[in-house]
Amino acid sequence: MPRPFDPSAKLRAGSAQGKPYVVTKVIDFCYGHRLLNYEGKCRHLHGHNGRVEIDIATEGLDKRGMAYDFSDIKQAIKSWIDKEFDHKMLLNEKDPVISYLKERNEPLYIFQENPTAENIAKKIFEEAVKLGFPVEEVRLWETSDSYATYRKDKF
Ligand SMILES: [Zn+2]
Repeated sequence: MPRPFDPSAKLRAGSAQGKPYVVTKVIDFCYGHRLLNYEGKCRHLHGHNGRVEIDIATEGLDKRGMAYDFSDIKQAIKSWIDKEFDHKMLLNEKDPVISYLKERNEPLYIFQENPTAENIAKKIFEEAVKLGFPVEEVRLWETSDSYATYRKDKF
């Protein structure tokens, strides 16, 4: 029988899994994109000043009293974002503009699906995991009032 009220559900991401320490790194980058099969403004080629917030959770602290060193997160994840996403066009692999831009050596990053804030957040989450970080959640701000979250599945 599930309890009618579970106080742990109110706790933030990591703490529900016995990871009470959460550090967050914020990384800004610029990207261009457009969305296929979409009627809004994002159907045209355009750019965003994106901001990503990466939450990393741990059970305890190291000898320095840190869950994770901010500069280690920055060095690894920011390097990846700078190399793959920053000042590039993020495009759906079905986008016909890809061949034109490739011929002109424009920097691209190709997604298998639309390069939405959700999919960009998911990609950064997956890369941070590959780099060895215990990531709980990634939030991608596409504008100052809109962000998408990709988080570790708790179930
Ligand atoms: Zn857009």
